[in-house]
Amino acid sequence: MDILTHTASGLAIGTVIASVAPKGLWTRAKLIFVSGFGAALPDIDAISLWSKFDPTIGSFLGLEHSGRVIYSEKFWYSHHAFMHSATAALLIVLGGVLLSSLFRKTRPSKIALLSYAGFFLGFLIHLWEDMPTPAGNWGGVNLFFPSETYVGGWGKIWWWNNYDLFLIALAVFLLNVIFLLCSSIAKTKIFKPVLGAFFIGFCLLAYQVNSREFDFNYSRKSSKYQAFEQKSKEIQQSILGQKIYSWMESFDNQLSLYF
Ligand SMILES: [Zn+2]
Repeated sequence: MDILTHTASGLAIGTVIASVAPKGLWTRAKLIFVSGFGAALPDIDAISLWSKFDPTIGSFLGLEHSGRVIYSEKFWYSHHAFMHSATAALLIVLGGVLLSSLFRKTRPSKIALLSYAGFFLGFLIHLWEDMPTPAGNWGGVNLFFPSETYVGGWGKIWWWNNYDLFLIALAVFLLNVIFLLCSSIAKTKIFKPVLGAFFIGFCLLAYQVNSREFDFNYSRKSSKYQAFEQKSKEIQQSILGQKIYSWMESFDNQLSLYF
């Protein structure tokens, strides 16, 4: 799935985490940001597609294969491998806990614990959202690294232009930001409405993923790649209607990433 939907989903998780934090706006904003960052981070393993990867990182690390080959392969540092595992999420959080305990002798504060939780859950929702995409070169995500099993690759949705899913995640995020702002001003608790909005959005997103009525699946290379992408866009058109679809498509065309 695309990085914008992942990030919006992580930000939405961040609003739930922020709703149990002290009511300071800055604290809540930081928790939302950390959760969004956790949800975007797994796709750092697509850096091997960067046009300057081979002469820079590839040459510095003395890598045997080109970035393009690495991306599509099943090395531990390929796309959908280690960085798309719950193990990576756990190790990063543990690394954060260890590092902060070196500098601070006291127990982690409630805010620190909420940051770890937001990052971890944001990271996990990214992995979950990548599972319904086609098997392609990997056959899912390497969820339990170092196990060689890949989970997902179900072909329920296309790799990108899932505009409906992005709009759901964005709507939950924005609605919950309004809830949080109101609770900060009124100094009231807001956990239940925020969690409720997130839960409804989560169910709606899962429903949309499972209601495409088209099998996008393929393994390795597919001659139907263009046709599948076109089909995905047609489905979006029928879900969103011509007007919203055109807005989303022109927004997509302005971006220099797959969306
Ligand atoms: Zn991903």
